[in-house]
Amino acid sequence: MRAIRRFTVRPVLPEPLHALGTLAGNLRWAWHPPTQDVFAEIDEDLWQSTGHDPVRLLGEADRGRLDRLAGDEGFLHRLAAAEDDLQRYLDEDRWYQRAVPDGPRAIGYFSPEFGIAAALPQYSGGLGILAGDHLKAASDLGVPIVGVGLLYRHGYFSQSLSREGWQQESYPVLDPDELPISALREADGSRTTVTITLPGGQPLVARIWVASVGRVPLLMLDADTEENPEQLRTVTDRLYGGNSEHRLRQELLLGVGGMRALRAYSRITGAPAPEVFHTNEGHAGFLGVERIRELTTADGEKGPLDFDTALEVTRASTIFTTHTPVPAGIDRFPRTLVEQYFAGEAGAAPGVPVDRVLALGAETYDGGDPNVFNMAVMGFRLAQRANGVSRLHGHVSREMFNGLWPAFDEAEVPIGSITNGVHAPTWVAREVYALAEQEGADHNDPDTFWAAVDKVPGRQVWAAKRALRERLVKDARRRLRASYLKRGLSPAELGWIDDALDPDVLTIGFARRVPSYKRLTLMLRDPERLKTLLLHPERPIQLVIAGKAHPADDGGKKLIQDMVRFADDPEVRHRIVFLPNYDIAMAQPLYPGCDVWLNNPLRPYEACGTSGMKAALNGGLNLSILDGWWDEWFDGDNGWAIPSADGYDDPHARDDLEAAALYDLLEHEVAPRFYDAATTGDDAGLPVRWIEMLRHTLKSLGPKVLATRMVRDYVQQLYAPAVANARSLDPDHRGAVALAAWKQRVRSAWPAVRIEHVEGEGIGDVPQVGDTLSVRAYVALGDLGPDDVDVQLVHGRASAEDELVRTAVTPLTEVEAYDGGRHCFGGSLTLSRSGPFGYTVRVVPRNSHLASVAELGVVAYA
Ligand SMILES: *Cc1c(COP(=O)(O)O)cnc(C)c1O
Repeated sequence: MRAIRRFTVRPVLPEPLHALGTLAGNLRWAWHPPTQDVFAEIDEDLWQSTGHDPVRLLGEADRGRLDRLAGDEGFLHRLAAAEDDLQRYLDEDRWYQRAVPDGPRAIGYFSPEFGIAAALPQYSGGLGILAGDHLKAASDLGVPIVGVGLLYRHGYFSQSLSREGWQQESYPVLDPDELPISALREADGSRTTVTITLPGGQPLVARIWVASVGRVPLLMLDADTEENPEQLRTVTDRLYGGNSEHRLRQELLLGVGGMRALRAYSRITGAPAPEVFHTNEGHAGFLGVERIRELTTADGEKGPLDFDTALEVTRASTIFTTHTPVPAGIDRFPRTLVEQYFAGEAGAAPGVPVDRVLALGAETYDGGDPNVFNMAVMGFRLAQRANGVSRLHGHVSREMFNGLWPAFDEAEVPIGSITNGVHAPTWVAREVYALAEQEGADHNDPDTFWAAVDKVPGRQVWAAKRALRERLVKDARRRLRASYLKRGLSPAELGWIDDALDPDVLTIGFARRVPSYKRLTLMLRDPERLKTLLLHPERPIQLVIAGKAHPADDGGKKLIQDMVRFADDPEVRHRIVFLPNYDIAMAQPLYPGCDVWLNNPLRPYEACGTSGMKAALNGGLNLSILDGWWDEWFDGDNGWAIPSADGYDDPHARDDLEAAALYDLLEHEVAPRFYDAATTGDDAGLPVRWIEMLRHTLKSLGPKVLATRMVRDYVQQLYAPAVANARSLDPDHRGAVALAAWKQRVRSAWPAVRIEHVEGEGIGDVPQVGDTLSVRAYVALGDLGPDDVDVQLVHGRASAEDELVRTAVTPLTEVEAYDGGRHCFGGSLTLSRSGPFGYTVRVVPRNSHLASVAELGVVAYA
């Protein structure tokens, strides 16, 4: 029988247990073990069976048990302590209040997915986990972020396997009433909604849910509401599903609707309006169009601005983070589709000329497609500040998008980088924290953790790692059994699972999404060789593998099937397992339980990667291609680098080479070190050199891989400069009006800007270190004045082809002005390094509101 209607009855807690509702209502429990203990105490079995979900636990808890707890002094005491702790966490001044007094009053952080807790499954992989960790770290630091996302009725999908090992997707319905979120409501109790307009004037309504992520509210828009006709209720059905138009509607809701939700949230709660807007990947880019709409229509607070002025206001306060160098990962829509959604007076952004919107996403560079609207390109045009997510990815992104600033070398393309980080309290096992605390580490001072690393006796380190490995083995066996049963095997065939995996064997983890560049099956390149490693009589390895393929990616599903078939083989199945449905719940025991974390992407497609960071924080050693973050922070001793055959044109030969290198490392370096135990002395039985490496991993990587480091970097390098610039364009946008007019003037005058003549003197026939080079440049500026430009001496090492590399810039100052817009600029430079040296002179636009010399894309070289 099917129900014709369903709703969830919220539990009424006995009055003394009121605080349980408060604790369950704030996701801070997800990274606060003492609060988890309070929930577990209610009913340990239920806590496990709900997958650590306080809302469901309270919904299903036995009434009699709750009544007994309501009279249990000990429990009430622990409950009160947890509530006090939460209150203090929410109220007290933290890093941001002390260190960034002039920072933005609020920051809107937009992302298509958020991975915060297993109990709120609104993520597909790394991008979402990163967004979740960003919010949590912001909360810990007191950074006033407001998250904006969508609430997907089915989340991403749940993965299982067919008998043949083919990925099966299912889409369980998530009932908002059973999620740790609450509806945003007007003062009169009615639900707050926002509306965007679809072609034909059709309204798309979304209600707004709020998840409390510690101090950070996360607004989630949900189109599944009675106000919408049936076919529009599915706009927020699932993450990354559907055709282009479906995706476009989702992204309009996220960007345009998300901005409106932020406005509604401020109106209702009195929270300060965001001064900076950060878009995590290009999907939310329409938020900039909505801000332009606000500013160019009379609705705007400070009266209508023209498009160009509104663009300057918007750009100054927008940050765009690009997350992938994989072309297929970049969101592109048919241009005509976007046109349809923005055309006319009843479009998604009424009043904003559709041709201006289309121009924002146009691929105007060599090789660009005129029929495409590119969300990443729009991201760069709408954000004055942009970044990639590791040093290498910054470099790759500058190359990839150099076409947007063709007059500049890659190094000056205005895309920086901030390397991702992970939220330690979410990802580090309690046992690991406990060891450090026993040696004096203090939660309020992260540095004390790294100082404690050397103090913990090796024997305790090793015992803890074994316990964590054992927990993983148990969890893996449970998942394996469930998976084989689901695949149709009978319990009688599964006796072997009791001995699958071994808590004393070197354990290697590999879990991530399954796009082709991550090369799930690289390790299967030579199956016999892998078998030999798995079954080595003295030094065996075991592998725990997991990952979801996108539902439309049959290639990825085939890779999973190859892996599953290999792992089904009775000869090796106790040493290699594929666990279906990789998610936060699986990940949390997985990282601490692994000795080695393996990553073998096709360099340089892994923009950053974060799973290896989570492993490192739990004392796992990384074994990885030098891609993403590992390219930056591998130091020769904190793990192993798999040599990559970059530049090899034949992908098969490249895979062969890299797989062979991986096997060699495992056989000759990794396994011997793990099993090489001291035979005498205090450390007898311990792999002393391994433990040394583990300590070094923690000390060298620990401070760097933290999400708090990442969020501080965002605040100091992007949010604070952005808000300073945005404020300087005020009051009443007068600065923005002037800036837009100035840019217009510079662009039209630029064709007349020329360097007519350069004189260099002061160095003899045989220049030597210490000589001073004096330069005079005669420039024609046309209608521009000397204050509109910087004339720069650009110097550096000259390559054999006279290309300047490792350049530095010395400003030249005006010496004399002549008639007809001609000027002489001069300056000098002392030669400080021997070797080939070269210089040139250039003119670039100058304005204190620019964030980069390349911003206008114009330059004149000698
Ligand atoms: C950390 C994490 C990821 C991201 O892993 P990458 O190394 O960035 O590929 C994906 N899924 C889950 C569940 C994670 O915890």
